[in-house]
Amino acid sequence: MPNVLPLKFQAPRLRSVFPLAAALVLAGCAAAPTGSALDAAPAALVAPTGPPKLIVAIAVDQFSADLFAQYRSRYTAGLARLQQGAVFPSGFQSHAATETCPGHSTILTGVHPARTGVIANNWYDPGIARADKRIYCAEDETAAGSTSRDPVVSAAHLRVPTLGDRLKAAAPGTRNVAVSAKDRAVVMMGGHDIDAAYWWKKDHFETFAGLQPVPAAVAANAAAARVLAAGAPALAAPAWCSARGRAMRAGSVALGAGRFALAKNQPDSFRVSPRMDAATGALAIGLVDAMKLGQGGATDVLSISFSATDYIGHAVGTEGLEMCIQMAELDRTIGALLTHLDAAGIDYAVVLTADHGGLDTPERLDEQALPGATRVDKALGSAALSRAVTAATGIAAPGSGTGGPLIYADGPFGDYWFDRTLTSAQKAQATAALLRIMRAHPQVAAAFSAAELAEAPLPTGSPQDWSLKDRARAAFDARRSGDVVMLLARAVVPIPDPLPGYTATHGSAWDYDRRVPILFWRKGLAGFEQPAPVDTVDIAPTLAALIGLAVPEGAFDGRCLDIDGGPGNTCGLGK
Ligand SMILES: [Zn+2]
Repeated sequence: MPNVLPLKFQAPRLRSVFPLAAALVLAGCAAAPTGSALDAAPAALVAPTGPPKLIVAIAVDQFSADLFAQYRSRYTAGLARLQQGAVFPSGFQSHAATETCPGHSTILTGVHPARTGVIANNWYDPGIARADKRIYCAEDETAAGSTSRDPVVSAAHLRVPTLGDRLKAAAPGTRNVAVSAKDRAVVMMGGHDIDAAYWWKKDHFETFAGLQPVPAAVAANAAAARVLAAGAPALAAPAWCSARGRAMRAGSVALGAGRFALAKNQPDSFRVSPRMDAATGALAIGLVDAMKLGQGGATDVLSISFSATDYIGHAVGTEGLEMCIQMAELDRTIGALLTHLDAAGIDYAVVLTADHGGLDTPERLDEQALPGATRVDKALGSAALSRAVTAATGIAAPGSGTGGPLIYADGPFGDYWFDRTLTSAQKAQATAALLRIMRAHPQVAAAFSAAELAEAPLPTGSPQDWSLKDRARAAFDARRSGDVVMLLARAVVPIPDPLPGYTATHGSAWDYDRRVPILFWRKGLAGFEQPAPVDTVDIAPTLAALIGLAVPEGAFDGRCLDIDGGPGNTCGLGK
């Protein structure tokens, strides 16, 4: 694991309260009366002074600004508490590559994917020696046995430090902990120097290769195993969800009225449900207790990425009963976490945002006043485009007889790479042909060559005003990005045919995928709402200033946001 420094797990003593806490959170998810006002903020708020002892950085995967707007008045627990703080309803993951890995990479680094190097969930290196030419963003492809689909998990591709990395370098007592269902979320928020890192693999939480899970993780796995073995009844739907329940189909996939009944031994159904978030939150609580996070001499960082909103959004879209129930359960899960931190007497500050937004299943969008929503034309996939470029240019794939295609891509949008055996003259000819074909297609909003993006400046100013080229540039890395980058037109969903678990998605350059809420909360801070656009790269400089961490000039693409709504200024003098 190069770049993943030795794990220095501290204070691994398991507090006896943990298994009970985990069981309560998991069971509470199945019982499901909706969140209680008891979870709202403590009445007497006294503003703490000095840096917080714990940063809780929460990403809710695929939590679009649209979902937040739709449900924010319904939250009564954790998400209600956070709305009493500094609320930025129009945050931006401002780049075009609105996928999980690039999005998570911006949150605690303060720089765009063009600088994190994390340009996509997967990219291609047609020159790599192994048969699998695809590289996963959180993989060490030099490790024995690693493949893009079964990776040796690593932060090797993240080119910058995270907030936790910086804090640990400045104050060695800092603990940097990250949990999620997704390994890439753990790695991109945690970074290179993580003390405890857990993600879900099939039916359990696991950590870096060669390390034993700590007792808190063993307890979380045991709690999850009990639920998996026993199954669980459908979750209750709050009354305000009833209007969302309408069964329909996307192709052969039934959706719209599901309530997450869990059959025995169905780990995939567990994962694609609010129970995955509850288990993630329970593990986070267990690690807080076992490691005494926020109770040491230095500021600790706890990163939590809740993945179920994304899994549910992909499986059944964003506008059915399923997402409504998920919004209620997520609120409760976050409430349980904050209530636990309060009870432990920890002085903590929270930021909550998302790695990207999302769009509903096009079959439902078509019924719900967005008839232009459609599925992508298979002609924009790499195989069809390879044939089209060959037909136009006579350049066949590949020149060296390696058996690979002329064009590689991880989906029918985004980055496209040519086979590396093309001569530079062939590559120029093929690039011109590919751009011509893409730009003539009615589902394509824009297509750029790598050369065009390389010479464009990194965009500045308000992300809502950025051109499509600016958005593509913010996720362009000359060493990794495709030879061509293609952006689909608005509401063209890049899934040609709906599949079980995958009817809807994100990844576009449009604001339904770029806009996410950004919420900050700390006890005693004067809350406010600022509707002007801000950027997820503003989060790291904001937290660094709150902690008093000195950071070199130019380290961030974003700016510090003063999250004290009163005369106080959390950015300090002169910032
Ligand atoms: Zn995601």
